[in-house]
Amino acid sequence: MMLPGQRAVYATVAKRLYFPMVDRSKGSPFPDRLAEGMRNQRLSPKELAALQLDRLRRILTHARETTPYYQRTLPEAVERIDALSDLRRAPFITKNDLFENRELMRSTRPKGQIFSGSTSGSTGIASKFYFDSEHSTWVEVIRWRGRSWWGLSRGDSQLVLWSRPVEGSQWVELTTWAKYRLRNCIQFDTFKDFDDAKLEKVYRAIIRERPRIIYSYGSSLGKLADYFDRKGYELRGAQRPKMVEFTADHMFESEQQIGARVFGTRVCPAYGSSEVGGVSQMCREGRLHISTDHVVVETVREDGELAAPGETAQLVLTTLNNFGAPLIRFKVGDLGAIFDEPCRCGLPFPTMKLVSGKAADLITTSEKEAVSAHLLDYINLHLMKHGIRGVKQFLVEQTAKDAFRLTMVKDQPFDERAPEIFAAKMREYLGERIAITTTYVGEIPLQTTGKRRYFKKVF
Ligand SMILES: [Zn+2]
Repeated sequence: MMLPGQRAVYATVAKRLYFPMVDRSKGSPFPDRLAEGMRNQRLSPKELAALQLDRLRRILTHARETTPYYQRTLPEAVERIDALSDLRRAPFITKNDLFENRELMRSTRPKGQIFSGSTSGSTGIASKFYFDSEHSTWVEVIRWRGRSWWGLSRGDSQLVLWSRPVEGSQWVELTTWAKYRLRNCIQFDTFKDFDDAKLEKVYRAIIRERPRIIYSYGSSLGKLADYFDRKGYELRGAQRPKMVEFTADHMFESEQQIGARVFGTRVCPAYGSSEVGGVSQMCREGRLHISTDHVVVETVREDGELAAPGETAQLVLTTLNNFGAPLIRFKVGDLGAIFDEPCRCGLPFPTMKLVSGKAADLITTSEKEAVSAHLLDYINLHLMKHGIRGVKQFLVEQTAKDAFRLTMVKDQPFDERAPEIFAAKMREYLGERIAITTTYVGEIPLQTTGKRRYFKKVF
């Protein structure tokens, strides 16, 4: 059992020392922007819409003036827009456009430092992108503003079910652990066997440490909720976290309901993408509110026309605070709908629904159980990080318990080590017994609309 005094020390270290230090090193004006973000949520819907339009004009002008890419693609008139719907004049950006043009999208006038991020997202298409201090600050602001609706603030204790880099070195393991600890988090690696023994450890950690937030991939949280249910565990009184939040992949409605019962609080999705950061979060009424001071969300039909309120269509995202590399009309690959009626909670932010998010899965082989399929994304990131070019897009299909088909679209230049390392890392995490066949194709077709994924179980 952790003592209350000890708990307070961890929270103080995170709030007063660790986060301010990280803010300074990243050139992040977090306290100022948080105050601004909190003011924005007290605006009327009309005032907030005006603020969003101002920010949109500002970023469009900046994009045209400071990046070669947008100088070419954005019409001059796009800076003089009168309404959000005028954004239609700008062309879309696909994941492939981003992949091929990221250097041209980089601005000569970032706000603060510039950082590079990478993901292979839900589609298996590798993507690398840039963002600046201003953007990363707003990503943090939005995360914690949304959590403040649940009575939380940055530095509160968290239990995190997430992955660790697949580097495998003890140094990486140690620094990852230390970083989480300083942020007042306990983390469980979802790439290592996520079996009953591990789930029991998670349960005991919750009872012992009483985290205020449980944060997880949807798939791993679903697994934990199911375990609690099977064992008859239910959190009571002070054991209950203030918030249970999942992101990055889907959690079934039934799993969310079981979660709400066993954890004793509502299970909240947070929607976002690596390239954009947070997009929307759940309020106490159970609605997903869009952070319109950080992002413009459009819903676009197959023919390119804007969808009506409530109509399900492709989600298209525009970043408002990334002066390092603006992202204008990015087709993120998810489906959703936007609503125009106000929410009972009183927040001015419009609400949305995510129809079909990233469908990651859990992989079980004869040696390993319920390993998060995000592993495959991290293997691809590992290759990118070490400059091993070769994978433009991939799809892994599990054809039998211990058999996998790895389909790749080659990138130029193609490094022969890429498929070898990919397969070696898969064996490391999924068992030495697995057989992997690799094939190369010119293109991996999209799955059924909205259901884009890099892992499929086909047996
Ligand atoms: Zn609401």
